[in-house]
Formats: sequence, C-alpha cells, structure tokens
Amino acid sequence: MKDRPAAPTAPSPAGQRILVVGAGIGGLSAAFRLQRAGYAVTVLESTDHVGGRMWTEEMGGYRIDTGAALLPDSYSEMRRLIRDAGLTDDVQPSGDIYGFLRDGTVHRFGKRLPLRLLTSGLLSTGSKVRLLRLAADAHRLKDRIGFRDLTLVPEADESCTAYADRRLNQELFDYLIEPLSTNYYFAPPEELSMTHVYLAATAALGTGYFNSPKGMVFLPRGLAERLDVRHHSTVHSVEEGDDGVVVRYTDHQGGEHRETAAGCVIAVPGPKVSGLWPGMPAAMRSYLSRLRYSTCLHVSFGLSERPAEPSTWIFVPRREYPGGLGLCLDHNRAPGRAPRGKGLLTLYWPTHLSEDLYDASDEDVTAHALRDLERLGLFPGLSRRIEMTRVSRCRPCVPLTHPGSIAELTEAVRSLDRTSRIVPVGDYFSFGSTNAALASGEQAATQLAVTLTGADRARS
Ligand SMILES: Cc1cc2nc3c(=O)[nH]c(=O)nc-3n(C[C@H](O)[C@H](O)[C@H](O)COP(=O)(O)OP(=O)(O)OC[C@H]3O[C@@H](n4cnc5c(N)ncnc54)[C@H](O)[C@@H]3O)c2cc1C
Repeated sequence: MKDRPAAPTAPSPAGQRILVVGAGIGGLSAAFRLQRAGYAVTVLESTDHVGGRMWTEEMGGYRIDTGAALLPDSYSEMRRLIRDAGLTDDVQPSGDIYGFLRDGTVHRFGKRLPLRLLTSGLLSTGSKVRLLRLAADAHRLKDRIGFRDLTLVPEADESCTAYADRRLNQELFDYLIEPLSTNYYFAPPEELSMTHVYLAATAALGTGYFNSPKGMVFLPRGLAERLDVRHHSTVHSVEEGDDGVVVRYTDHQGGEHRETAAGCVIAVPGPKVSGLWPGMPAAMRSYLSRLRYSTCLHVSFGLSERPAEPSTWIFVPRREYPGGLGLCLDHNRAPGRAPRGKGLLTLYWPTHLSEDLYDASDEDVTAHALRDLERLGLFPGLSRRIEMTRVSRCRPCVPLTHPGSIAELTEAVRSLDRTSRIVPVGDYFSFGSTNAALASGEQAATQLAVTLTGADRARS
C-alpha cells in the first residue's frame, strides 16, 4: 500500500467558515485538516462525547473499547495524522500474535504469517499449496487495494464463498476465509465481497499493530482538543443556499438553530446521510439505501488474573463452534486496558447471533457469553475470576460491501459533484474501518478547500 500526500494542499481564504456534522474519526480528521488550512471550523455532534464508533469506556480500572479495537501498521493515513496532530507519544506497538482455533488447539501467528501458515499445523499440505493462489491474487491487487478507493478493484467483487469455490478449497474456506469475514467484519462470508478479505489479508495479517494505553478514544479526543466541537447539537438538514450552505440543528434544550457556512462536511453513518441532505445525488442515495451494515454485540470480562494465552485475538471458526466467534485478549492488545496483573477478555459474536441477542437484557447476554466461553474450554476456571462485565451494542457496526456493490459505489461516486460545497465523509466509501473514515475525511477536506478557493478566485 502506498503512502499518499497529506491533505489538504490548496491555499485557503482566511477565516471562511465550515461546519462539520459528526465528531467521529471521519468528521474530526476533516475538521483538523481544514482548520490547519486556515478555515474557521465548528464540529456539530449530537451526543455528549466525540469518537462515535471509536470510543473507550472506563469501568473500575478497565478500559473497554466499545467500537473499533485493532489498528494495523498499514494504517498509513492514521499514522500521519497522529504525527501531524502531535499525538505520537500516545501510541506504541501493540500485541501482534493472533491465533486460529482448530480441534481445541490455538495455532498462533504473528508478523511472519505467510511463512508460519506454510509451516504450522493449521492447514493440510494440499491447502498450503492452494494458499499460494490467494497470495498471488492478493499480490496482483496490492497496489490498487487501499483505504481510499474501493472502486479500483472491480474484478474482486465476488462473494468470499464464490471465490473460495473457484480458487481455494473447503479447508481454506473453513479455517481462513470464514473466520476473517466473521471476525473482522462480523459478516457471513456468503454475503461479503472478497475485496474485504483481500484487504484483511494484505493490510491486517502478517503486519504489526499499534495502539494507545489511553484506549482507542485517544485519537478522536486528541483531535477534538484542538477543535471547536459543539456537543448535543443534532443536525436535521444541510442544504445549498444562495449565500452558502444552510445547516439546521437543535441543541440539547430543543432550541432551533440555522447557520450559514461556506461549506459543510457530512460525517455521519451511511444510513443517516439521506435524511440530512435532501440534495444528495440519486445514485448516492440508492447506493446508501442498499448498503447493509453488520451488527455487533460483544461482552467484556474484567478478570482478577490474566489467562496465560499470549494471543491478542483468537479466531474461532464456525466449523469449530456454532456460528463462529472472535475472542480478544485486550490486556495483550495494549497496555492500560486492565489494572496491573489483571486481564480483560472480550467475546464478539457475528451479525446473526448479535441480532438474535441484541434486545436481551445485559444479564442474559452475559450469561450467554459465559456459556459460550465455558463450552469452548479455552480458559478453565474463568467464571471464578470475573470481577467486571460490560455489554456493548453496535448497530450500525460496519458497512458490508456485498458482491456487486463496487459497481454501485462507482456510479455513486461518479454522481457526486466534485465542486459541491457539501461533501459526504464516511467508512461507506471503502472498507468499514477507522482508517477508511479518516482517509475519507482528509479527502473531503482537500476537495472542499479546492472548491472554496476556486469560488473565491472567481468572485475576486
Ligand atoms: C464493534 C466495532 C468494531 C470495530 N472494529 C474496528 C477495528 O478493529 N479497526 C478499525 O479500524 N475499525 C473498526 N470498526 C469500524 C470503525 O469504528 C468505523 O468504521 C469508524 O469509526 C467510523 O467512523 P465515522 O466517523 O465514519 O462514523 P462514526 O464513528 O459513527 O461517527 C459519526 C458521528 O456522527 C454523530 N452523528 C450522527 N448523526 C448526527 C446528527 N444528525 N447530528 C450531529 N451528529 C451526528 C454520531 O454521534 C457520531 O459521533 C469497528 C466498529 C465497530 C462498531
């Protein structure tokens, strides 16, 4: 994956006002870049905190990442933003061992994954030979596949299942493709485009990871400290007017506001964009209305003692356990997640199991998670060591590019007017991830700066 130049580069007319809707990582990265370019930026956020799906809760000395958790070193856009915002001291290398469960044994891998896959006992010799096909296919796409533009890889737009039937075998599907699909995207591989697995294979496996002892919220919080963010400000509409972009929102007391700005970035989750932006092009509206999102329910257990397992993440294939699971040993992922000597373990269910349990009480959900953990038998005596539990619910979780949707996305992106003063930002332009949202925010900042500079020149 290639590093791209930082955004934005266009000169800016001093003091022009820009409103950003949404203080998730997408909106904050756009706001940060625009403010640096000289614009007067205000971020409107409906809740009482920044970060959206990149958020950390503190409970009794445990730090629980309720949304995103993993940051691979391949997130070059994020690493550059961290540097530019002066937040480098907040991050450090994070645990990079992950395990795949087969027949009760955890097969562990790290940075040298491709080599280890060939020597480990996870796969048969026949599958190891077939694996070279996946490596060759991913290698062919590696210069085009990235976090900024999914439309560059149209030939990869088939379901994971169809790809595995065509190029791999059942064992590789069961022990590699399905767990990657279920654990990284919480999605069934039958419904997920293979592009996602290519990206997981090239950008998240066999690479290092980084993280912050402060929790994932370090980045949104660090950016927000440098910005003007108005909480409890729920935006209802964004429309182009004669004098600029008109944004209507209500504050926490129900007071109605109408503000005009030179430009606006809309950085809310895909399903919410249509309701805010009446002038959104039809192809974009159609793409977003068809785009599905995963649902994620996960349960974190604070443990009085750390399990000996060295992995950060354990992939539990559905061949090994009904429905499949993901297990994160958060204390191995980054320091600061659990008090000294204690452990933090999180169980993630895939979408269909999450949906089944989503509305159940926290007690029922926790009991279900404990049953799953006991049946798996990886952590004997676990229930005696639990001193804290936290249930996290995320809906919408991450956008799922289904087979065929790259063509729809291509049409949607083409329909966007690149000189518009309203620019949408989100993880729905690429792979549902913090880095995709961030890259989209930076791209929007560049585009808006170019548009506003051009409009200013035309006026003078
Ligand atoms: C459980 C889970 C696990 C994940 N794991 C990972 C991972 O390991 N690694 C990774 O990179 N990514 C992961 N992701 C994906 C990643 O978290 C998201 O893709 C990314 O954070 C999206 O950022 P965003 O800014 O586009 O949207 P959001 O974070 O959703 O931010 C949108 C913001 O807009 C606000 N808003 C909404 N409507 C309005 C309105 N009308 N007016 C004002 N404000 C509004 C919201 O309150 C929110 O703060 C995970 C996500 C989840 C849920």
